[in-house]
Amino acid sequence: MTSTDLLSVATQFGAPVYVYDAEKITAQYNRLSQAFRQVPSVRLNYAVKALNNISILRLMNHLGSGLDTVSIQEVQLGIQAGFDPKNIIFTPNGVSLEELEQAAALGVQINIDNLSLLEQFGSKHPQIPVCVRINPHVLAGGNANISVGHIDSKFGISIHQIPHILRIVELTGMHINGIHMHTGSDILDIDVFLYASEILFNTAKNFKQLDFVDFGSGFKVPYKAGDIETNVEELGQKLSARFNEFCREYGRPLTLAFEPGKFLVSQAGKFLAKVNVVKQTTSTVFASVDSGFNHLIRPMLYGAKHHITNISNPQGRERYYSVVGYICETDTFASNTQIAEITEGDILCFDNAGAYCFTMASNYNSRLRPAEVLWYEGQAHLIRAHETFEDLVRNQVDLKDSFFHAEATA
Ligand SMILES: *Cc1c(COP(=O)(O)O)cnc(C)c1O
Repeated sequence: MTSTDLLSVATQFGAPVYVYDAEKITAQYNRLSQAFRQVPSVRLNYAVKALNNISILRLMNHLGSGLDTVSIQEVQLGIQAGFDPKNIIFTPNGVSLEELEQAAALGVQINIDNLSLLEQFGSKHPQIPVCVRINPHVLAGGNANISVGHIDSKFGISIHQIPHILRIVELTGMHINGIHMHTGSDILDIDVFLYASEILFNTAKNFKQLDFVDFGSGFKVPYKAGDIETNVEELGQKLSARFNEFCREYGRPLTLAFEPGKFLVSQAGKFLAKVNVVKQTTSTVFASVDSGFNHLIRPMLYGAKHHITNISNPQGRERYYSVVGYICETDTFASNTQIAEITEGDILCFDNAGAYCFTMASNYNSRLRPAEVLWYEGQAHLIRAHETFEDLVRNQVDLKDSFFHAEATA
């Protein structure tokens, strides 16, 4: 997708709009598959929460991907997008027994991450195979906001509680067919990841009926110049060799599973917004776009840096800008960042807008959520229309004026 392609999308569909490049998603999928080609059976389960548009899910299905889901609604989306429930894993946190049962009834693989539900589910449905999510207590990456493997994390069953898991399995007669971990969002250090994998292998040895070992995700992609990205080729080589060796120790071939979200879709996405106002203050130049954290919240929520370019003036002289939104609250996308000279009406392009961008959008300030477009084989295809005012009020119940008692007169 060139800047000209992107500008044409903004013109055709109107900004703000999300655009996803199918070719980039495909390339990332193939790159990850290739990295693990030495393992006879590999399953990549795309994490739906990163980007949940049905047409994106169909593309994933087409590529041969499975799905990783965290809510019954994501399971339903996957099924609607044509996935065989067998290729969907349900990895929720803190859900009810009923929700697990609903997912199991649809035929998807259940992954349980606490002892209470493991015991309840196992007692009621010992015949349904279950995967267990363990917490290896390894801190992957340095950011406490996005590391979920450490000691105080709410995710997974502690490895120190393996004896308790085994007791539940023995008492209920349930069948554990998978072992899972998802340590955090960034694999920066492959040795740390391999160390966590050893803990997973050690845990796996306790279960005799496994079909798969699931290593979750955490593949880091670059957001800004100088960012380290996970070396998936090196990881693939080292982990594949170790995994094959483990299967020999275990006595049976197993499937190696991953649940990449960000890795598959982050870089494929661009967010296009129009500059409404350029405002010079005593200390900075603000460029205000027709968007805010109602459309893209990651900069404000995580301090994420999304590289911004002015696709209306790509050759323009660079100047420093603070890019802000139109929300009545601080909604700074970037401070003092160099962008080619901006004129009101220009279209700014935000990179890495594929993962956790549209899916985190809201209607705050009663604003409408943007359209989504899939760029496929050189052409733009609308995959979600811009919301309308009707969407905003659809589920609201208007009690009407006559409902309220007349105001007491003084
Ligand atoms: C969010 C999530 C993922 C995907 O993480 P990325 O960093 O986007 O790759 C995978 N597995 C589970 C269980 C998750 O909750």
